[in-house]
Amino acid sequence: MIGVDEALERILAAFSPLPAENVPILDALGLVLSEDVAADNDIPPFPNSAMDGYAVRADDTNGASSDEPAGLRVTGYARAGSPSDERVTGGTAIRIMTGAPIPNGADAVVRFEDTDESTRGRAFAADLVARVLVCRSVRPGENVRPTGEDIRRGDIPLRAGTRLRSPEIGLLAAINRATVSVQRRPRVAILSTGDEVADVEAELRPGQIRDSNGYLLAARVRLLGGEPMLLGIGRDAIDDLMARLDAIRGADLIVTSGGVSLGDYDVVKDALRSRGEVAIWQVRMRPGKPLAFGQVGGTPLLGLPGNPVAAAVSFEQFGRPAILRMLGRRDLAIPTVEATVAERIENRGGRRHYVRVVVAGNAREGYSAQLAGPQGAGVLTSLVRANGLLVVPEHLEVAEPGAKLPVQMIDWDGV
Ligand code: AMP
Ligand code: MG
Repeated sequence: MIGVDEALERILAAFSPLPAENVPILDALGLVLSEDVAADNDIPPFPNSAMDGYAVRADDTNGASSDEPAGLRVTGYARAGSPSDERVTGGTAIRIMTGAPIPNGADAVVRFEDTDESTRGRAFAADLVARVLVCRSVRPGENVRPTGEDIRRGDIPLRAGTRLRSPEIGLLAAINRATVSVQRRPRVAILSTGDEVADVEAELRPGQIRDSNGYLLAARVRLLGGEPMLLGIGRDAIDDLMARLDAIRGADLIVTSGGVSLGDYDVVKDALRSRGEVAIWQVRMRPGKPLAFGQVGGTPLLGLPGNPVAAAVSFEQFGRPAILRMLGRRDLAIPTVEATVAERIENRGGRRHYVRVVVAGNAREGYSAQLAGPQGAGVLTSLVRANGLLVVPEHLEVAEPGAKLPVQMIDWDGV
């Protein structure tokens, strides 16, 4: 038997970041930037109003209050996308909408709420009021968003290594980048195995079950930023498996499920062994234990156990970090919180036990973890219910209620 950490270390040694390519920014969601991105313009590119109101000279509002308002003559109108070409001079104001360029001569904006407009009711562009009463003084620059407030020309708002979430995609658009260089998506070939396994909608023969692993793994690969290739279901026959593996083209990783245990028909391991480049390990973990890892035709192969939860949990520990490394991610660890165990959990046999739990709480008040249901390796519904995997260490035979243990938050991978 080997430990989980040792297995992970050996697996990760086979992966490095994939080459970069240019993609449209929306296709880069969730991927990792492979270039420093510089801004060749100021954002915003011109000073503009942060409020709906009147562009003024701040000096003209000195000492203004509701009792002694400052009266200004309104000479024009500025709205977003349509600058006013009037100039604000002493005693005048220009009606201005949020986002409109600040007119020449003005250095501040008075909000409608601080004028007599709030009591008088709204005027519209069509019937521009001739005079406005300002009921509060403004400082120079007040309610004005200056040029370059967000980003200055020449700044590097995004560095290589950044994972692109929706705010980063928006920022790229803001600085006029249509495409961006990212580590390309890993292509992950997924092969389910087992004579008893049938695809969704295929007719079931007696004793057959549906392939859930293929779809679960493909969905996970896609969410992480990889490109899954579903290869269907291999028979429990060495020839069939070898032929399917040999036919795989263009994959950066092959993931199989099933056939690596000790049963009479667990022939995936024999097929893989016959190549001499794949090792079969017994990993000190539960669920899961048998695991295959090596190379087939120069492509890394990860062989997961067949039980759906064992496959899913093993994939989280070994497949996820391999994919993240290919994507150029640096932090490969699963986001983990410490939670208080609500129930007694047994852990005999010296294996690291990943327990499906529902985590509630928050960082400030602490987290608690409750069993998400029966923990059999084939019970997918308790994985459906769970948002975390509580990790009971190898040496701990019983976790008593109240014990604090780490929980891997398996649904914190979104973007
Ligand atoms: P194995 O590791 O091949 O012995 O399979 C262990 C258990 O997982 C058996 O009960 C299989 O029927 C089940 N199993 C294997 N592959 C799949 C799959 N793709 N989808 C759902 N269950 C599976
Ligand atoms: Mg099988």
